[in-house]
Amino acid sequence: MYDPVLLSKKIESIVCNGNRRKYYRFRSAGFYGGIATADCVGCCIRCRFCWALHVTDRPKSIGHFYSPRQVAERLVRIARKKGFRQVRMSGNEPTIGRSHLLQVLQAIPQGLLFILETNGILIGADPDYAKALARYPNLEVRVSLKGSNSEEFQRLTAAKPEGFDLQVGALEHLLESGVPCYPAVMASFSSSKTLEALRLRLANLRADFYDLEVEEVVCYPRVQEELNRVGLIPHDVMQGSWE
Ligand code: SF4
Repeated sequence: MYDPVLLSKKIESIVCNGNRRKYYRFRSAGFYGGIATADCVGCCIRCRFCWALHVTDRPKSIGHFYSPRQVAERLVRIARKKGFRQVRMSGNEPTIGRSHLLQVLQAIPQGLLFILETNGILIGADPDYAKALARYPNLEVRVSLKGSNSEEFQRLTAAKPEGFDLQVGALEHLLESGVPCYPAVMASFSSSKTLEALRLRLANLRADFYDLEVEEVVCYPRVQEELNRVGLIPHDVMQGSWE
């Protein structure tokens, strides 16, 4: 079992260099009705169902370093070319390398909505992170919970179970700081009972969090191989043929 916050520091030392961070791809994607996407390298947890585990596991050998301005320029260029109103960082975990992320946010024009897709661990570990994010009015944060409770989180990530409370804590900190945010949950390994308990827990933070976004595992061949290896059987899957 590992501590995700400690692991984030180790990963940061690999994927960040000054204010530059490693990325492995810039692309347009169909999610959210069309969005320019910068896929970063490096994560602080190891979800068994991660479609990008081949990147997460090899932060030293994958990707190239980009400055915040270079990242913002690429995102804006893709968005303008495709007529998108939204940009995001995805791939691995964008909150690693806080100053890099904040400088990317600073460089994105106000007319574009920045969707920050995060596992929330580092925002849950430090309320000042949420306060820093509150400075950017064109930001929306999607916190993706890995399971419905601490036990599921531990089973799905092999991390210390306390990491799940950090994920929920991220939503608390973001709400306190007035940052637009919403939860999603990987529910393919949850029972209806644990999922309902999570809904009620989140509804205590904000009533509409009860209707959180439910994610299903996408069984790309590499994901299926990993799930087989660790003996995890999802109760619902989406078949995937592209990575
Ligand atoms: S948090 Fe996201 S990027 Fe990190 S291992 Fe889990 S699914 Fe992959």
